[in-house]
Amino acid sequence: MPGAEMNSAVLDLNEAERARILAKAAAFAPPPATLPDGRRDLVGLSREELAAEMLALGEKPFRAKQLWHWLYHQGETDFARMNTIAKPMQMKLAERFVVGRPEVATQQDSADGTRKWLFRFRDQQQVETVYIPSADEDRGAVCISTQVGCTLSCRFCHTGTQALVRNLGAAEIVGQFIAARDSYGEWPSPKDGTPRHLSNIVVMGMGEPLYNYENVAKALKIVMDHEGIGLSRRRITLSTSGVVPMMDRCGVELGVGLAVSLHAVTDELRDEIVPLNRKYPIADLLAACRRYPGASNARRITFEYVMLRGVNDSEAEARELVRLISGMPAKVNLIPFNPWPGSPYKTSTSEAIHRFADILNDAGYASPIRRPRGRDILAACGQLKTESERKRKVAE
Ligand code: SF4
Repeated sequence: MPGAEMNSAVLDLNEAERARILAKAAAFAPPPATLPDGRRDLVGLSREELAAEMLALGEKPFRAKQLWHWLYHQGETDFARMNTIAKPMQMKLAERFVVGRPEVATQQDSADGTRKWLFRFRDQQQVETVYIPSADEDRGAVCISTQVGCTLSCRFCHTGTQALVRNLGAAEIVGQFIAARDSYGEWPSPKDGTPRHLSNIVVMGMGEPLYNYENVAKALKIVMDHEGIGLSRRRITLSTSGVVPMMDRCGVELGVGLAVSLHAVTDELRDEIVPLNRKYPIADLLAACRRYPGASNARRITFEYVMLRGVNDSEAEARELVRLISGMPAKVNLIPFNPWPGSPYKTSTSEAIHRFADILNDAGYASPIRRPRGRDILAACGQLKTESERKRKVAE
């Protein structure tokens, strides 16, 4: 098939796949963001939706701008304290709306400063969120979840042992970051250049974000909005197991950093460790990485590689990895496996990890070895899991 025709065939195929993925995501949609008393949660509405709500109340568009400022710049939850809004209007808003937060079910602090929350939503479903402070600077990343459970069953991952219950809504995704900011009192949103403790977001918690794309995209657009939280896209990294058809869209629409859970250099092994590989094999995945919009030496693609003793940690595999990613602006995060109860793997030896890293480094690829964080509270990579379970149908 001539090149152009082949490309359009690939794109058509991707379009059909995207439609299928979005339809499946809708089947696991979150419950409506409305309280039993009929009041609606304002968090998670896009600017346009907020403006439409104000219009429906007979208010001018500037109200939406004012509210946006209170919600996302000031972090205010009480309409009565929004002092640029006149009292009658405050009351009108309080009758119809709430400014919601996920409930903190538990909070645990690790000896190394990592903090993990178990957040509970209105339907009692729960996810985990982790704040990982930088070891040497006054900043840190919030690792947020995008689904309750996960469909993908990556073999090294504790979350993967929990069936997908449902997708999180935009309010629940942005709500994790907001609640983390509440926990550290980081309001109002620090202006450009002012240091932030909660300076980065990694979309790497429970779930596969590209299987819940619409809600993730909406939440990240809220987070990036300059008149609110104002976190730059350069400070956001989305991690995928390789949902190839959605990767281009993510790059074009959001422009956030991309991390890919690679973990193996042959399809045979990756089929086993990351079963999604059977659908989107390594060659397709790397092709999508090569065309990821905005990737450059300043914004390298991160490949995540969990180090499993005797499974994927040989020198030959390190050399093959170099070959696979050659010419790509990339770095490789080497993650010593974090065991969890019943996990089938062991962590690679320190010697094996360092040998692997040396081969990558010698080939010009930064390959930091991730220091396990929050292990004592099961907050490290791949260890998140909640007790939430898919509700049985009444008939069962
Ligand atoms: S690594 Fe991510 S995609 Fe794979 S099972 Fe765990 S949460 Fe799901």
